[in-house]
Amino acid sequence: MSDDTPTLFRCPPDQKAFAKVYEYGDQASRLIMRHGTPPLPNTYALMYAYVARSDEKVVVAVDEMLERGALCQYEIDEVYNLHLRPAEEDHKRETINREVEEHLSSLLDLVGSSVENSDQFENALQQIAHGLTESASSSHLSSALARLLSENRRMTDQSRRLQDGLRESKTQIERLQQELEMVRNESLRDPLTAAYNRRAFDLRLDAELEAAQKNGAQLCLAIADLDHFKRVNDNFGHRVGDEVLKVFATVISNNIKGQDLAARYGGEEFAIILPATDLPAATRLIDRIRERMHERRLVLKNSKKPLGAISASFGIAQYVPGMSAADLIERADQRLYLAKAQGRNRVKADDTASDAA
Ligand code: GH3
Ligand code: MG
Ligand code: MG
Repeated sequence: MSDDTPTLFRCPPDQKAFAKVYEYGDQASRLIMRHGTPPLPNTYALMYAYVARSDEKVVVAVDEMLERGALCQYEIDEVYNLHLRPAEEDHKRETINREVEEHLSSLLDLVGSSVENSDQFENALQQIAHGLTESASSSHLSSALARLLSENRRMTDQSRRLQDGLRESKTQIERLQQELEMVRNESLRDPLTAAYNRRAFDLRLDAELEAAQKNGAQLCLAIADLDHFKRVNDNFGHRVGDEVLKVFATVISNNIKGQDLAARYGGEEFAIILPATDLPAATRLIDRIRERMHERRLVLKNSKKPLGAISASFGIAQYVPGMSAADLIERADQRLYLAKAQGRNRVKADDTASDAA
């Protein structure tokens, strides 16, 4: 990015701030065009933040992406989600919290007035009891009875209002809880495949490493990459490629369980965290996933034309005390590279190097 990039817009000198906005917007658009990335709002927001250098982490992440060459939409979304989205999410959470507070406060008002009412009811009963003597006349008795009935009606109305209010609040608070859960989910899931995203993966891997370090538990990490996936896109189109990604995510999630976590790690890469799993068990599990994917016979929806066998390669690394998350990922990546180099559609694991295909 150079300072002499020509600007598309010229502004009066007294509008310096606006001129900067136009200039950054212009530079962001040029970057998007240069890399042929779809001009989606997230991409624009990310590139704008990059050229404006408003967040050092964004600059580092985008520089890394640019160095790798391809600006893949998935990675753009991930960097956007990681660094720019939290503000949006905080805003949504804040709105929900405010609504919960409002509901609680009107609920407290309702409970308060209900308590007040029941005090009044008690007082009224005491007054009526006080005014009733054994020698009370029948007119006295009937007016006491009328008052009793009216106090009772008032109390019944009040308890109905309280019940309705409680029921309504329960419904609203349940809805807000679901909305909060959705915000949480949105921030941790990949929208295309519904697998966990990179952010969820990073959080979980850190937690698992800490746990393994503390209690010496076994931990393995697998990285999976679809073989010759570019060909799928080239031969059948990007939309079909997307469907294949979904199938792969489903095959993985159908074959893991419990505390295992599968996340979309890159464009056509998935990472699988396997806590409390030793290397032989991890290798068996990952090889089952490899086999299940390879035996799928996918066909195009309308023409039923077969896509042919689609395979993936896998690298597995085992946690050794003292390793960082980056170390473990790098080891799994090296094994994956080996699996690719040795012909794809195979699983390569640390040391034991079991060749499963
Ligand atoms: P290899 O066996 O060496 O992994 O070859 P490959 O073709 O799978 O690898 P390469 O890195 O050359 O291409 C990956 C392709 O994945 C390119 C990119 O367009 C595609 N891709 C990445 N994300 C998505 C996505 O979300 N949807 C679709 N349809 N394609 C994607
Ligand atoms: Mg890849
Ligand atoms: Mg690939």
